[in-house]
Amino acid sequence: MQSSTHLGPATSFAPENSFDAVIIGAGFSGLYMLHRLREQGLRARVYEVGDDVGGVWYWNRYPGAKCDVESIYYNYTFSEALLKEWTWTTRYADQPSILRYLNHVADRFELRRDIQFRTRITAAHYDEATARWVVHADNGQTVAARYLISGAGCLSSTNTPPFSGQDQFKGPQLHTGQWPHEPVDFRGKRVGVIGTGSSGIQAIPEIAKEAGHLYVFQRTPHYSTPAGNRAHAAEFLDETRERYPQIRQHMRESSNGVAKEVRRDSALKDTEDGRAARYEQAWQDGGTLLAAYGDLLTNADANATAGEFIREKIRDTVKDPAVAELLLPRYMYGCKRPVLDSGYYETFNRDNVTLVDVKSDPIEGITAAGVKTGSREYPLDMIVFATGYDAMTGALFRIDLRGRDGISLREKWQDGAAIRTYLGVATAGFPNFFMITGPESPSVLSNMVISIEQHVEWISDCIRHAEQRGCMAVEADSQAEAEWSRHCKEVADTTLLPQGESWYTGANIPGKQRSFPIYLGGVGAFRKHCDGVSARGYEGFILTPQAAKAA
Ligand code: NAP
Repeated sequence: MQSSTHLGPATSFAPENSFDAVIIGAGFSGLYMLHRLREQGLRARVYEVGDDVGGVWYWNRYPGAKCDVESIYYNYTFSEALLKEWTWTTRYADQPSILRYLNHVADRFELRRDIQFRTRITAAHYDEATARWVVHADNGQTVAARYLISGAGCLSSTNTPPFSGQDQFKGPQLHTGQWPHEPVDFRGKRVGVIGTGSSGIQAIPEIAKEAGHLYVFQRTPHYSTPAGNRAHAAEFLDETRERYPQIRQHMRESSNGVAKEVRRDSALKDTEDGRAARYEQAWQDGGTLLAAYGDLLTNADANATAGEFIREKIRDTVKDPAVAELLLPRYMYGCKRPVLDSGYYETFNRDNVTLVDVKSDPIEGITAAGVKTGSREYPLDMIVFATGYDAMTGALFRIDLRGRDGISLREKWQDGAAIRTYLGVATAGFPNFFMITGPESPSVLSNMVISIEQHVEWISDCIRHAEQRGCMAVEADSQAEAEWSRHCKEVADTTLLPQGESWYTGANIPGKQRSFPIYLGGVGAFRKHCDGVSARGYEGFILTPQAAKAA
């Protein structure tokens, strides 16, 4: 048995550097985890890279940043008082409102005193002899904790493609996921936006309103539908508050974590007129079209009907037919994250906006003056990278995470090719390590806040169970983990989603191994399964009693 880790043994830590739990990240996950563990009487410390709370909502300050889950569903539901005292004023909350909400939560539950900001966890090694994690930070600090819990997020490790010459560009270069705090002045400037996913599609209409000229560098046209954002009426808010117990129940039992009816009928069984009417209704209501029929993500022919409806809308909206043609998405709708927008396609009717197709004429590099494609150079004053994230594993792999026998998480998962978790919450060989909405949980294909709450509550219950029984370690069993991974894949393969070229599969990161590490069985079914595991005494987990320590 190993007596220490590469970072040294987990013994001899001063009380101020020794915790029951270390939590990584102060976003929705880390804040609630801290609150729960403190309620259980544990000493927990959160480490957060940013200057303040918020996680992705702290960093994503780009113009137009909003959440595409309706605001009344995108909040914690664990506290009646918190629900009653907070009001979302619009159907979709913008980034400043969500950040205000998370600051309110941090103040209300006095969380800040146990959060250390401006600190990045760089390494965490499990010391088997003491059953503790030795955790190292970029400021040189090393602490020890019995439990290590990641709330590092699924979409928090930004991706900037390695364009040659990037360091030569004379103007500012901004990433949507690491936006500056001070206002960015686009007035009169030649701005280039690279990327047309959710971030680009939200930012482009706003930047276009200010910029002298905006160049949109598009590689793949994405499907986008109107968000239909609007102010909430007072009666709607009153009624929502009254009905919240039912809404919460519905969210928890639903497939995607929001309280909306899901249609189950087939698009192919409807008439052409019937389909057109239903898609039109969904388009006018705002939101994605994915809920219009039950088989849009499982049947390619059904999917094609929604794709064609959106293409027709783009042709109707964009006045220049050549530009409209370039904006038409051709992949299966939903296989990349569907985007919600506020006036995206209309933006291409503006005289100060140029669409540059970098699929046919790829970006060769960045120069001192701007962006160079194969055919020409685009002189720019500023470049905005809306080029997304190294999703699902990026934030975890950035940490030198080592479990038993010094095996790193990266090695175990072979850079993503062999991701294996048990319930997305734990992975064999890494005792007392928990992930909040980790790979192979519903995570990014659900309302994240509802999934975060479920994972946090399940993890804290599991820790309580272990503590009450005096266990020194809780670890996923490798058989249970293999079975869960197999089940995840089996469910995913009943849908079209693993076929997509998207960040869901890792296809957006050159060289990243492909996988589909998201559980598609639904939020309600997942909760039920996790509750069954705990009711059966944490079936599939190995709980090591204290006595085993001496052995
Ligand atoms: P994304 O969806 O991964 O989009 C990245 C964009 O950059 C794509 O258009 C991609 O083109 C392009 N790109 C990447 N490398 C490129 C290259 N070398 N040359 C040219 N173009 C390149 O990233 P995102 O827009 O930041 O969104 C990521 C996820 O974050 C979303 O799907 C969503 O889940 C979440 N998010 C949510 C919201 C919201 O709630 N409304 C807002 C923002 C983000 P290809 O498609 O060709 O790869």
